[in-house]
Amino acid sequence: MSMDSRGGDVVVIGAGLIGLAIAFELAERGATVRVYDRGEPGRAASWAGAGMLAPYTERVANEALLGFCVSSLREYPRFVERVRAAGGIDPRLCLDGVVHTAFNEADLNRLQSDAQELAARNVATEMLDRSSLFSTEPWLGSHVAGGLIVSGEGCVDNRRLGRALVSACQTRGVAVERSSALRVECDERRVLGVHTDLGFVAAGAIVNACGAWASHVPGIPARCVPPIEPIKGEMLALGAPDEFVRHATWVPGAYLVPRDDGRLLVGATVESAGFDERVTARGVHELLHAALSAAPSLGSFVVTETWAGLRPGTPDGLPFLGPTPIEGLFLACGHYRNGILLAPVTARTTADAVEGKPAPEILPFSLTRAGTDWPLVERTTRV
Ligand SMILES: Cc1cc2nc3c(=O)[nH]c(=O)nc-3n(C[C@H](O)[C@H](O)[C@H](O)COP(=O)(O)OP(=O)(O)OC[C@H]3O[C@@H](n4cnc5c(N)ncnc54)[C@H](O)[C@@H]3O)c2cc1C
Repeated sequence: MSMDSRGGDVVVIGAGLIGLAIAFELAERGATVRVYDRGEPGRAASWAGAGMLAPYTERVANEALLGFCVSSLREYPRFVERVRAAGGIDPRLCLDGVVHTAFNEADLNRLQSDAQELAARNVATEMLDRSSLFSTEPWLGSHVAGGLIVSGEGCVDNRRLGRALVSACQTRGVAVERSSALRVECDERRVLGVHTDLGFVAAGAIVNACGAWASHVPGIPARCVPPIEPIKGEMLALGAPDEFVRHATWVPGAYLVPRDDGRLLVGATVESAGFDERVTARGVHELLHAALSAAPSLGSFVVTETWAGLRPGTPDGLPFLGPTPIEGLFLACGHYRNGILLAPVTARTTADAVEGKPAPEILPFSLTRAGTDWPLVERTTRV
């Protein structure tokens, strides 16, 4: 049933990049949308991430997910332009390629075979010998053997994108509100609305975009709860001169992402540690060890920031998108390592699903995808 025929407002729960992008898309299509978050919008994983837009670099193995990521990468320039035009904040998209580095013969051979694999998919790459790599990224250690640049990939300033989306949503009439305790109300068949700090709000459609917390939203019937597990990632920033590092660059054990505000991001650890968001000595050590092994020149820079965030992980690494057995209740969660990349395509396809239009691209990511026997996820009402 389409949103229009139900006639109710859309409530999006969770104001990360996923929830905000969906709200913005629906509002631009004419829907009345409210977004609720128990915290500050755009401040959870969407703030903690590195903003890499790099499906090939990430080696996304599942073909359906890779196709979805590539569609999103293609949609990024237009998406960013629409967000900037609506809200006036430029999220600083940069798609000038991602550099991969090799420090020995074996790594160099691996990059050669990556280049061949990508060429078979019509992805443009260029092998860089030692001297061309140095002229591209002169900060790398003198022991670097060569590299590969994957064209068309890049990064966005995800923190700016969060602020840009909040502004764009508000300009398009979306109410972005805080509610510390929120409970979904459904009957046997369909959603009715949400109980917020300020009372009950009726809704024709509700989208669960709660990231790593998506299996803990109170009031959602058990058969509609997605199995999501938080996967911790720690990062740090160095204060580096402008354009010291020019491209997002992968070195063994870490990646480096330059920002135009003087920060050079170094990321990221991957760990299953529950809902713990503390930065550890081990995490910082691992990141600095990887970065300084590749480029000793980074050692004189000041560590300006450290942080950690929770990626929304799923048992098979695929997100959960689209309708649930309860009419009007939709999922947009479980984007794991690629939620920033996947925001545009998730917004478009989720908006289609909410409007009752066909959304074939999200079928592989349905809650009831065939052959899956989800492990039981322990649920609590508050995490
Ligand atoms: C260290 C790190 C590096 C990363 N790097 C990249 C990268 O380079 N590229 C990339 O594409 N992705 C990256 N990711 C992954 C990406 O950040 C996530 O996949 C993405 O941000 C998920 O967005 P989201 O909106 O689903 O979740 P979140 O941003 O976590 O937002 C969920 C929101 O839901 C709210 N919420 C939760 N429960 C409730 C409730 N009960 N009621 C109300 N509100 C609730 C939270 O407060 C939060 O604001 C990285 C992640 C981390 C941690």
